[in-house]
This record gives sequence, C-alpha cells and structure tokens, in this order.
Amino acid sequence: MDVLELYRRTGALLEGHFLLRSGMHSPLFLQSAALLQHPLYAEAVGEALGKLFEDEKVDFVIAPAIGGVVLSFVVAKALGARALFAEKDGKGGMLIRKGLTVNPGDRFLAVEDVVTTGESVRKAIRAAEARGGVLVGVGAIVDRSGGRASFGVPFRALLALEVPQYAPEACPLCREEVPLEEV
Ligand SMILES: [Zn+2]
Repeated sequence: MDVLELYRRTGALLEGHFLLRSGMHSPLFLQSAALLQHPLYAEAVGEALGKLFEDEKVDFVIAPAIGGVVLSFVVAKALGARALFAEKDGKGGMLIRKGLTVNPGDRFLAVEDVVTTGESVRKAIRAAEARGGVLVGVGAIVDRSGGRASFGVPFRALLALEVPQYAPEACPLCREEVPLEEV
C-alpha cells in the first residue's frame, strides 16, 4: 500500500510551514483525519495495519481519542478484536469510559495515526494497563519518530517518514519569512 499516495490523494499531506504541537517547526504535516474520513481508505489502512499484528492474538485495540477512534475501529475490525478508545481525563492523562470492556489479562494493541514522540499513544496505553490490559504491540500509519519511539513491545508502521523538524530559532522557513501555520 502506498500510504503517502493516499495522504496526497485525500489532501492529507500538507506542505508549507507548520507549528507542531511539540513546538517544533516543519515543512510537512500529515492531517490524518482528511484521509480517515473516507471509509474505504480507512478500511484499507486498517487492514494493512492489522496484518502487521495478525499473529499477536489481540483482544482489543485502543487509540487516543478523538483522532484515533476511526483508526482503532478499522484495525480492530481487521483483527476480529474489540475497538476501544481512551479520552482525556482532564488531569493530563487518559481514561477509558465505562461500557468499554477491559478484562484482566486482555491482550491489546495500541494504535495512532502518526507517531512522533509517542506521548499520546503512551497515555492510552497507561489507561488500558490501569484496567488490567496487557500491551502486545504498537501500530502507526506513519512513524515519523526517526526510529526514536520505543514502547518495549513490537512497534510497526506502514510507513517510516523522515521529516525535517526545526527549533524555531534554527528554522530556515522562518528565516525566509514563510507564513507559519498552527496545526
Ligand atoms: Zn519556522
């Protein structure tokens, strides 16, 4: 699957000058929601990502909401697993709402569209572990961590993308006075 082509085709690959949530500047931003709003593309991504973990006997998939709800659903569908999501607890962490089942010892896969630092998927992992789940893998559509993200379990992505990131004071786009967009 040509993931980058899917991002491009759906207008989800933005090129310009972006202020990332991390405070870094980048010439490229992946707006996964623009891709995942198309159910057929979302399902294709879910199947491809699920395939990377088909031997892990996954009971449920979890993702950080809201952006991860669709991804969790399509990957879980591909694996014949349950689709859960974690949401912000208002105290800097995440929790899983009542009604979503985690049985003690359930094997779970955590997924996120784009892993940069892995911070938000880690919060979803902690929420699932707090309910008794056992993490067996982490999946991403795109790994843009440059090989730095590590979770102590297999971490697999459909695409590893090296994207330049600059501290504001060292950003060549700032120097060229390209307008900065917040994402
Ligand atoms: Zn800049």
